[in-house]
Order: sequence, then structure tokens, then C-alpha cells
Amino acid sequence: MATGKIGITSENIFPVIKKFLYSEQEIFLRELVSNAVDATTKVKALARKGELKEDLGDLTVRVSIDKEKKTITVSDRGIGMSEEEVDKYINQIAFSSAGEFLEKYKDSIDAIIGHFGLGFYSAFMVSEKVEIVTKSWQSDKKAVRWTCDGSPEYSMEDSDKTDRGTDIILHLDADSSEYLEDSRIEELLKKYCLFLPVPIAFGKEKEWKEDKYVDTGKDKIINDTEPLWLKKPVDVKDEDYKAFYKKLYPSSFEDPLFNIHLNVDYPFNLTGILYFPKIRTNLEIQKNKIQLYCNQVFVTDSVEGIVPEFLTLLHGVLDSPDIPLNVSRSYLQSDSNVKKISNHITKKVADKLSDIFKTNREDLEKKWDDLKLFIQYGMLTNEKFYDSAKDFYLFKNTDGKSFTLEEYKNIIKDNQTDKNKTVIILYATNKEEQFSSIEAAKSKGYDVLVLDSAFDSHFINQLEQKNSDLRFMRVDSDTLDKLIRKDDAPKSSLTDSQKTDISAVFNSQTPKNTKMNFTVEFDTLSADDMPVIITQSEFMRRMKDMGKMGGPESSFYTNLPDNLNLVVNENHPLIKELVDDTFKKTADGTSSFDSELKTLKADLESLEKLTKDKKPEEISTEEKNKKEELQKKISDTENNRKKVFEDYAASNIKVKQLIDIALLANNMLKGEDLAKFVKRSVDFVGK
Ligand code: ADP
Repeated sequence: MATGKIGITSENIFPVIKKFLYSEQEIFLRELVSNAVDATTKVKALARKGELKEDLGDLTVRVSIDKEKKTITVSDRGIGMSEEEVDKYINQIAFSSAGEFLEKYKDSIDAIIGHFGLGFYSAFMVSEKVEIVTKSWQSDKKAVRWTCDGSPEYSMEDSDKTDRGTDIILHLDADSSEYLEDSRIEELLKKYCLFLPVPIAFGKEKEWKEDKYVDTGKDKIINDTEPLWLKKPVDVKDEDYKAFYKKLYPSSFEDPLFNIHLNVDYPFNLTGILYFPKIRTNLEIQKNKIQLYCNQVFVTDSVEGIVPEFLTLLHGVLDSPDIPLNVSRSYLQSDSNVKKISNHITKKVADKLSDIFKTNREDLEKKWDDLKLFIQYGMLTNEKFYDSAKDFYLFKNTDGKSFTLEEYKNIIKDNQTDKNKTVIILYATNKEEQFSSIEAAKSKGYDVLVLDSAFDSHFINQLEQKNSDLRFMRVDSDTLDKLIRKDDAPKSSLTDSQKTDISAVFNSQTPKNTKMNFTVEFDTLSADDMPVIITQSEFMRRMKDMGKMGGPESSFYTNLPDNLNLVVNENHPLIKELVDDTFKKTADGTSSFDSELKTLKADLESLEKLTKDKKPEEISTEEKNKKEELQKKISDTENNRKKVFEDYAASNIKVKQLIDIALLANNMLKGEDLAKFVKRSVDFVGK
């Protein structure tokens, strides 16, 4: 029996590596089974070339547990190893590369997670002793048994193994007893080995006999050795794709919308099938479903860094030997192969959608609501995807018809171009809540889109940036004549000071709370339009909507109150009547203030004339005091005068009623205010 010392420097490297790789311990099984599969693939190649003379026999890789002995054994009928090979591949290479690996990554646990490259050595993460019993395919080589208890010492001796292949026997340590459970091993095999190219057997198929399950004589094969993505797309039927989806995501109960079968061999190697899932809301739970394989061995299901962010919403599998896996994620992002792969996938996804748009638009329209978020997300975050997707992105109007942006522009441009040659796209975010504004727009022959997704405010910002000839305006963000201004507004019949007075009347009756802030405005709408309309500036509202989605300005904008405009329609008969009545009823109350203000303002003016040419230091204290006193008197008098209008407003319930009707039309009258309105209306009807 030979003994020796493995060439790694640190004596206690094993406990270190165990602790280090704690969260990734389970990969030991993947490493051992894929080594077994590699050895099997190699022996098949030898047989093909005629170098192996004997019969290949049953090549199934077997995984078994011995609960008594506390061992797990992985057996294969691959090429096996001679004594020299064990020495070379295990004693020198495997161990030294593990040492290097540890040295390289000792500072960053994250970099290790999800990696390949620890290989055979990872067996020591769960074992106190590992044995290799192996016999080379070369018939003149003796079988060997190699044993190592985790210290750098190993022993090697002859073995009586007669058939070709390798058994790796792990004597599990006390901390790793979970791996003696059949269910745990089955779970790991299903996770990592589900699509390996050689059959993997674990236990026996069971059958129901005399009230219990009993083992049949048949091996239970864990894997599918010819996964669908390796087949030629022409040979695969739609049902096959659906069935494969079920296999990948057994707990999903919805069929995917479409799939893309990838098959590239130059300039990089990539196969796979990507599925578009239905995405209505919560993006987060949809993420990280793509499984990444390297030559059919499962590596990870977190593909950030490998595919663009928006594509992480897709489901399915990618298999590529060209993605470097034993590197950190930041390195991945700069790797040129990864970039090429990622661009390729983006292009394929866009091509697929564009193809459906061209050949089966009806289908795309039908599935649009489930795809829309994904496509918007892609357009917002990926320039290349935007460029292709803009031609098939579909907008829906309030009647449920779909259009591309180009089609829509052509339809509305005659009627909805304003005097600055900007095409105004009107939209609603909620058909119910903005019903009255939508109807008003339609009655003018305008069309209204429905933009109700969480990304829409960001999305229309992007569209406006890319198309300087269009503007999106929510249909209730201003009066229609102002939204699509075709000629200069007709002159107002009210003077500025009259407007100030009427503003005071309306302002005093607007709801007083911290969430809404009103500014009274005047507009010369038609007599058929509403007497009072509430609008909210497109800009502020969009900022707030975007704030809700997060981002740097988010809390600033979301904490602001809603700034609303109370637009008074000067041409409405009720308003005309109210304006006349206001000035008639307030004339007495305001006349004394008016003459007082006249005198005060004249005094202030002459004082200002007197001091106009003086330098600040030449103005006497007396003059300064006099000026301040006059200014204060003016402001007090103005306030008192304003109070006359406010008192009038309080005495005329029509003012409050008109405001409440406007609020009601916008779905903004709630709770106590609504109850009061109803009560007031009943009283009003009774009059
Ligand atoms: P890697 O598989 O990445 O080369 P490992 O540390 O897993 O690294 O294995 C080192 C070497 O040991 C392998 O390259 C192979 O030559 C040999 N080996 C490991 N397991 C087996 C096996 N089951 N049958 C034959 N050779 C094996």
C-alpha cells in the first residue's frame, strides 16, 4: 500500500473550505455525477473509435445511499482510472486546483456561489473520508482503491474491482446526515442532473401492492437524457414545448404565451428554449426562472448579468459551454461572449414578437395584456429592444381597438394636431374614473387611448423623447380646447380684477385638506361645456405617478399635495349669472373698501415718488415707517374686501354645489363631503 501527501500547503484547509462553502455544499453531488457522466461519455467515444474492444454494457450512472454505513456512492461504467491517473488527476490536479481555487476566492464568498470548478474536491465538504475504487478501461491496468480522510494524507492500494468504471464512496461526516435521506438526494439529482446525457439511476420504481408502495425491480431513472432544447426546432411540436414547460415548472398552472427555440453554434455555442410567461402584475415573482445549463448540467437559476435585466422575466432554459461560470458576476457583464449571447437573445426575442405581429397579429393582440409589461420593461431598459419593438408595440384605445404608434398617428393627426404642429395623443388611465372627460373628448371627434400599466408614465416620457412631434396628455389634464389648442383662445369678458374677486368666491369653497391644492382659473369654453371643470397638470401628475414607481425623485413628488385646477367656464350661463349676482350683492360691502384702497394706494404712490431717487441711506426712518404702515393698511383692507366675497360665497350654496359637481365628475368627492353634497342637493331640489 502506498501513502503520500497531497500537494496543498495548509493542513487545515478542509474545515476552512467546509465552512466557506456552507451554502453551496450540495453541489458536491452535481460535481460527482457530472464527473461520472463525463467518464461515460468518454468511454462511448472510445468505443465509437474502435479503441475499446469490450462490450460497453449498461452505462447507467448509479447513486445509492447506505444508511447503516453512512455512505453515498456514485458509480459509473466510464473510462475509470489507472493508478497513475489517480495520482495525476486526483492527487496532483484535483487537489492543487482546489487549493488554488480557495486561495483565489477566499475574500469573496459571493464569487464562489453557484460556481463550477471545485470538482471532485467538493466531496470533502460533506465527508470525513472519501474512497475511490476504480478500474481503467485499459485491460492491462490494475484496479485501485484510493482513500483520504480529509487531511492532506492519502493512501492507495490494489483493489479487487473487476469491471470497468469508478465508484466514489463518501463517508458522510456527522454534520451532513441530511444527505442520507432519499428525498434530499432525489431533490438534488432533480435539481442538478435532470437533463444529463447519461441515465442516472437512484433507487427503484415503486408500485402499489397490498396497501403499500413496494420497490419494483426497475431502476428509477431521474433524468431526461435528450432534453427538448437539443432537438431540431422543426421536429418539435407545440404540445412538446408545453409539456416541457410543465416539466421545468411543475407547480405552474398556466401555459406560456409563446416560446423561442435557440440554436446557435457560431460564434458561440448556445441552445435553449425561452418561454414568455403571462405577466399581469408583480414583476418580482416572475424573475429568475430561467435555468442555466452548461452541457446539460444545471448551474444556476439566477441569470442576471448574463441576459439583460428585462429578459430575466422570461422562463425556460439556456445551455451554453461558452458562459464562463467560475467568475464573479461583474466580470460576466464585461465578458465579450456573454455580451454576444445577451445581444443574440435580445434580438431573437424581438424577432419572434415581430414575426408574430406580421404573421398573426390577431394572436398578438389577444395576448397583448399579458405581454405588455414585459415589452414595456424591455423598451425602457434596452435601447436595441426599443428600436425593434416600437414597430409592433400596440396601443389600445377606449373602444378596445389596437394600433401601432405609426398607425395611430396617421389616424388622429388630422383632428388632433395643435397649432404648433404637435400631434396630441389623449389618454385615460382609468376608463371609469375619467369617463366624463373621455366622453367630452369623443364628442369633439377625438380618440382616447387607455394607458393603465404601472410603466406607462415612464413609457410615454420615453416616447416623447424619441418623437419630438408628439405629446401625450391625459384627457382630464386640462380643458380640451387647451389640450389641443388649434387657434388663439377667445378673449375673456372679465377684467383681471374681476377675475381676482371671482377667484376668491370659488377658492373659499374648495375642499380644505392637505392632499389637494386648488388654483382657480378661467376659460372661455362653450356654453354647452360644464360650468366648472377640475384638471390636473400633466407634468405634475406624471411626476407623481413615476414617483410611485420609485426612483430618485420619488418621495419628493409623492409627498406633494395634488395641485388641481378649478377651471371656471366664463361662457356657461350659470357662471354668467353667478358673476352678475356676485358683483350686485357685494357692491355695497365693497364700496367703502374700494374708496379707502384708492386713497391708500395714492398715498403710497406719492411717497414712493418722493423716495424713488434717494439712496437707501438717505431715506429717513419716518419715511420708512410710513411706507410700511401704508403697505400693511392696504393688505388689511384688501383682506377685508376679499372677505366680502367669501361671505357672499358662503351665503350662496350654488358656489359649493358647482364645485362639488366638478369634483364628483372626477370621482374626487368622497366621504363626508359627498354626504353633505347629497344632503344639500336634496334641500336644493325641495326649494
Ligand atoms: P474536472 O472534472 O473539472 O476536471 P475534478 O476535480 O472533478 O475536475 O476531476 C479531476 C479529474 O479526475 C477529472 O478530469 C478526471 O480525469 C478524473 N475523474 C474524476 N472523476 C472521475 C470518474 N468518475 N471517472 C474517471 N475519471 C474521473
